Amino acid sequence: MFEKKILLLRLVFYSIRAYFSILTRALTTSFKRTYYQFRFPNPTKPEDSKDKNIIIIGASFAGYFAAKIIATSLPPNSPFRVVVIEPHSHFNFTWVFPRFCVVKEHEHKAFIPYGRYVPAELVRWVQARVERVEKEQVVLTNGQRILYEYLLVATGSGATDGLPSRAGVDEKKDGVVLLREMQDRIEEARHLVVVGGGAAGVELAADAKHLYRDKNVVLVHSRQAVMNRFGVELQVAALKGLEDLGVEVILGERLVSENVEGKTATLSSGREVRCDFLIHCGGQKPSSSILSSLTPSSITPSGHLSVKPTLQILDNNHPNIYVCGDVADTGEHNPNARHAMQQAKIAADNIVLAARGKSKQYKYKPHWAESVIKLTLGLDKSVTHFGKDGTELLFPAVENDLALMCDGSWRHWGVVPFEDEYGESKTD
Ligand SMILES: Cc1cc2nc3c(=O)[nH]c(=O)nc-3n(C[C@H](O)[C@H](O)[C@H](O)COP(=O)(O)OP(=O)(O)OC[C@H]3O[C@@H](n4cnc5c(N)ncnc54)[C@H](O)[C@@H]3O)c2cc1C
Repeated sequence: MFEKKILLLRLVFYSIRAYFSILTRALTTSFKRTYYQFRFPNPTKPEDSKDKNIIIIGASFAGYFAAKIIATSLPPNSPFRVVVIEPHSHFNFTWVFPRFCVVKEHEHKAFIPYGRYVPAELVRWVQARVERVEKEQVVLTNGQRILYEYLLVATGSGATDGLPSRAGVDEKKDGVVLLREMQDRIEEARHLVVVGGGAAGVELAADAKHLYRDKNVVLVHSRQAVMNRFGVELQVAALKGLEDLGVEVILGERLVSENVEGKTATLSSGREVRCDFLIHCGGQKPSSSILSSLTPSSITPSGHLSVKPTLQILDNNHPNIYVCGDVADTGEHNPNARHAMQQAKIAADNIVLAARGKSKQYKYKPHWAESVIKLTLGLDKSVTHFGKDGTELLFPAVENDLALMCDGSWRHWGVVPFEDEYGESKTD
């Protein structure tokens, strides 16, 4: 009990410090922008600027945030310019995918327009996919080559099974269609089997059972506890939340095969469960292959990219390549968007320092409070969890927004919820 009180106190201090750090950065950025406008009313780029690119690959939590920091930190007469390469038409707000796989009529909110968050005049935006990175250039899948002075790899991770973890498509209209198809299939299924007891599987199974009370929802997980990568108290709370809703949880079993015609799924013990629709909510894979020819030694067995504490890639031949977010091997057990953004801050600041010819580099140190998770347990309940060295803090809450406060995320990324030039007709 005493440890919990201490942890709570530390969390309060951490939150105050984090709040002041956000405030200071916002004020500094705003002051810098005002000064630059006054000092350089008609900025001109030096002749050679076309070669002095700072390329950011991937514009999700890590890359989009880093793009903003770098773009707003460089003075207008800087020879450097920021180039963002991202295949998605919209920011994919993955957190709400499990919910919108089940609940209808909010799916368009999961794809947020890339908008005013990074002022358009400060970046060159390339909607494309990088095929590989070479020593001084990146090669896109369309064959185009773009030179770089500095490179930030923020390619995150991808899910081999698509939804509910990733949409697996680039255009919003296609993502919306996939979510709607998933909603329909879940609605039609009498017996739903969800494989994987991590956050996505727990949330999806709980939502499906909550919305469709007469459906048979089974969650199969290979470990002895759901949410096994987190603390025991969260594991217990998640299991209770599922069982209270009536989800059947089968632990310590793997899916062996699915008989679509016979409408059954066979588990490792030989047990068969009835199954009209099966959803894989498995793990994710770091998207590091673009560096496999340039620096194979930097790719860990898990597929992450090894980094130095400065978030430069762990290969002294490439001190101008930085990595942040889910793809970086920074030692977190449960990497999340907060880690990604903290790392983005360090990597972006370090690139700006290096571009200004400074030798100083900041170091990334993970903080336990960043490993927070908010897990929904049905449509009207959630539990927020913090943990450190075996001590856990759980904050249960009542939820009353089916769209999981997506509007706040739209505002965070500088756009008005839910205004988007993307039209419904495009999905037809
Ligand atoms: C279902 C789900 C729910 C989650 N819920 C939460 C939550 O509640 N709270 C939380 O903090 N975290 C949550 N997370 C984790 C969080 O989403 C990730 O930690 C975060 O997205 C990592 O951000 P990132 O920028 O490193 O990578 P990603 O979000 O994976 O983005 C990588 C970007 O790189 C782009 N990219 C990839 N390859 C290439 C290439 N070759 N060329 C160009 N671009 C490329 C991709 O298109 C993508 O936009 C959740 C994750 C999932 C899947």
